[in-house]
Amino acid sequence: MVSCFNCGKKAVVELPYASASFCKNCFLEHFKRRIRKANKEFGLVRRGDSIAVAVSGGKDSAALLWSIKYLAQMAGNVEVKPVLVDEGIKGYRDKAVLAARQACKKLGFELTVASFKKSFGKTLDEIIAARDRKSGRKEGACSYCGVLRRAALDQAVKELGANKVALGHNADDLAQTFLMNLLRGEVVRNSRLRLTEDDGVAEGFVRRIRPLIFVPERECALFSTLQGLSFHLGACPYSGEAFRGTVKDFLNDAEAKHPGIKLNLLNSFLALRKAVGETTYKRKEKPCEECGRPSSGGRVCKACELLRRL
Ligand code: SF4
Ligand code: ZN
Ligand code: ZN
Repeated sequence: MVSCFNCGKKAVVELPYASASFCKNCFLEHFKRRIRKANKEFGLVRRGDSIAVAVSGGKDSAALLWSIKYLAQMAGNVEVKPVLVDEGIKGYRDKAVLAARQACKKLGFELTVASFKKSFGKTLDEIIAARDRKSGRKEGACSYCGVLRRAALDQAVKELGANKVALGHNADDLAQTFLMNLLRGEVVRNSRLRLTEDDGVAEGFVRRIRPLIFVPERECALFSTLQGLSFHLGACPYSGEAFRGTVKDFLNDAEAKHPGIKLNLLNSFLALRKAVGETTYKRKEKPCEECGRPSSGGRVCKACELLRRL
């Protein structure tokens, strides 16, 4: 039997990157420490905040909800408003919505559901079917999904009157994003990520906060399981189209052979941001001429541009 590195009780998890194993209680403490570390380093939750929590029904969003509740209780006088964007992916997101509802109920929150259908008149399944009927250059499903989900989320956050939105990005997600940007030759994109209060917020948006930034994906799943929070485990039917999947598989493989490389990559990303300055990239937003949402480039926003091409 493997024992807890901290107290000697029976371990529930081994963490090769830390050369440590933890019992249930010590693992929960280890998780909380990293949430408090993120809060301290990036100034996430403050007294008087109204925080929209972007949930998806997956393991990260259950851990995120719990973490925001924890930080909200520490800060005091914080409103917590979970919101889920239903893209309309049959057999996948519909099941995840049920799990999100259960997790919200268990933690005492009411879930708001926004959707592609309400915001854009079409589900993602309908958008992809329309894309496939067209000839010419085709964007991957995840390009539509990412852009439209961001737009639908921004709209929902505005309607909820929140001053911050919490995202469930974990340590693996950030390491993947960093490597994806390097592999695409778009290293400058790494400086666009606004993490600290000093990074400021693009006009027309609310600040995005990421309390799970120091927690590996596997530990988000374990934490949610140990807390008895519901989450949906299925894979999105479009995930095979994603470049992220290739990078994720590569990093998981490398991590198994060389424990610690994912966290090293994350730390390199954070160190690089510090070295080159965190606010080297400033977005200039103006309202989209078609929908009024903030557009960072041309006359119309990316969401309207994608929908117009269908
Ligand atoms: Fe959307 Fe792609 Fe994620 Fe599926 S895998 S939910 S299409 S971003
Ligand atoms: Zn222990
Ligand atoms: Zn628009």
